[in-house]
Amino acid sequence: MPVPVVVIVGRPNVGKSALFNRLVGRRAAIVEDIPGITRDRLYGRVVWRGREFEVVDTGGLISHPTEPLQVQVQRQVARALEEADLVLFVVDVRSGVLPEDREIAQRLRESRRPVLLVANKADRPGHPGIYEMYGLGVGDPVPVSALHGLGISDLLDRVAEMLPAGEPEEAGPAIPVAVVGRPNVGKSSLVNAILGEDRVIVDAAPGTTRDAVDTVFRWGDRRVVLIDTAGLRRRARVSDVVERYSVTRTLAAVDRAHVVVLVLDATQPPADQDQEIARLTVERGRALVLAVTKWDLVSPSPEPREAILAPVRAAMRFVSYAPVVVTSAVRRWGIAALVERVGEAADAHARRVPTGPLNRVLMEAEEAHPPPADGAGRQLKIYYATQPAVRPPTIVLFVNDPDLVTEDYRRYLDARLRAAFDFRGTPLRLVFRARERAAARR
Ligand code: GDP
Repeated sequence: MPVPVVVIVGRPNVGKSALFNRLVGRRAAIVEDIPGITRDRLYGRVVWRGREFEVVDTGGLISHPTEPLQVQVQRQVARALEEADLVLFVVDVRSGVLPEDREIAQRLRESRRPVLLVANKADRPGHPGIYEMYGLGVGDPVPVSALHGLGISDLLDRVAEMLPAGEPEEAGPAIPVAVVGRPNVGKSSLVNAILGEDRVIVDAAPGTTRDAVDTVFRWGDRRVVLIDTAGLRRRARVSDVVERYSVTRTLAAVDRAHVVVLVLDATQPPADQDQEIARLTVERGRALVLAVTKWDLVSPSPEPREAILAPVRAAMRFVSYAPVVVTSAVRRWGIAALVERVGEAADAHARRVPTGPLNRVLMEAEEAHPPPADGAGRQLKIYYATQPAVRPPTIVLFVNDPDLVTEDYRRYLDARLRAAFDFRGTPLRLVFRARERAAARR
């Protein structure tokens, strides 16, 4: 079914373009530029709570400055009625209802198209001018301030309700991702850079309110939920922000995540706190991606430079499976790579290795590097292994005696498994269990 069309009409100066920019612009929600349409953006695609629609700003389309205003407005409305599934009729609460507004209202009523009356410039709640709007006879006005971004979520909710029923969005499982790090490392900027990417289609988390703490977006065929993004997204727009870092909040976000993006500041060596967070992800069995951001401050180019990354790798040796991505929110470097690595880490985190290949790899590993023995000459024997769980991948190895497993050998097996199967980004749990005599592999 075709994407429903929402057309914005209204006399000049009511704020149609501002509203259009709010709806279609990155700030409101969600944008996808339609290829071939120029950047003046008279058309824009919006996805809101799983509904997708196209918004048209007729105010921008129809500009024949020599024509009398009335003719222009009529033309605009006629155009809107040709294609609109829903008309957003914008009025201005500050100037009140003018004769042109009445005229448009009349034509819209005659057309019997669904109309949503938008009372713009309601910068303060309870604006008295709004009552006059009921008199237009096109339904209850929805107060918004396009300029200040107020009431936009409610408006989008109303729009989504009024649109003809469409096919529900395919609800692929979304990857829950927590973006964490110390204060001022650049988390907010990074989140906003991700959400501002042209390829990203942002959607409100289904079932959450307008203060949605999580943000859902699509990247290719992946869906990602950024956990607890409210503070992060607001952050970049507000100048005098109080410190939002809290350990509890980080913990809660990590707990809900499958993949954790630990943001590190390229201009500073990693701190204890960074290691703490990384350790936490291991403990909780979460996948991990390291984003070394503000790269523009340490390098003129977006390529990773080992000399700069060496301290990071050293400090994060215990999570060496975590890919390191260099990013700059300011220059928009590394954003695509970061999202790709997050997707791969999520795949690895959920990877299930069939028993056959798993045992083959372990057997080869044993042959290449015989298992350790204790002082009395008893040697570790691995009988067989299975993977009973994912997130993180958990491999149970049945052995003659778990006490014979040394830390070195465990690390060696971990490395062999990683080399054989793509476990980049995820911790692996190797569990050694005693299994006696019978049913031994050999
Ligand atoms: P948060 O506390 O981790 O969310 O950090 P912010 O995103 O608020 O960023 C902290 C400061 O670093 C702000 O002044 C940002 O403008 C600045 N910043 C963030 N990312 C970058 C970046 O990639 N490059 C540069 N040059 N500055 C950045």
